[in-house]
Amino acid sequence: MKLPIRKYGDPILRTKGKRIEAVDDDIRALAEDMLETMHAANGIGLAAQQVGRALQLTVLDVSPVEDRPSTLTLNGKPIAELAEAMPLVLLNPELRLGAETDLGSEGCLSFPEITADIERAISVEVEAETLEGEKVRIEASGLLSRALQHEVDHLNGILFIDRMSSASKVSHSSRLKRLQKETARL
Ligand code: ZN
Repeated sequence: MKLPIRKYGDPILRTKGKRIEAVDDDIRALAEDMLETMHAANGIGLAAQQVGRALQLTVLDVSPVEDRPSTLTLNGKPIAELAEAMPLVLLNPELRLGAETDLGSEGCLSFPEITADIERAISVEVEAETLEGEKVRIEASGLLSRALQHEVDHLNGILFIDRMSSASKVSHSSRLKRLQKETARL
């Protein structure tokens, strides 16, 4: 089932997600709905807060994006064909950032029509759990690294505007104010 996506101004986007202690039917159904919602919106990542649930759960699928490469190592095994490992459904992810950073364009399904260059670590390591209750260790670079950082930020109530340069924030300020007002009316 496709779910409505919460937009900037909705307080749930600022709420830190609760750890998921046990995977039950509710969590499985939520993950499935989040995948459907993300794919329908042509997104590459979605956090539980964006569909109204403050939980440590995110889904990602960078395989449709061909012009921005990623690398992925799963439990120590390099994945040659990225699409085969997608989508990712991650519970309780913990992130370790690589030292080097770069600037890259980002958007967010909770901020329609807004994109900005954001500085992020080029590579990350993530430890998380799967829906099957297994631990998974991910090493990623490129677009997937960026998407993982963006989504784990969501799970902690952090939004990409918090990481924008002040110049980008100023240039988007009227759109941001309008978005907040629209959300408040809902
Ligand atoms: Zn986002």
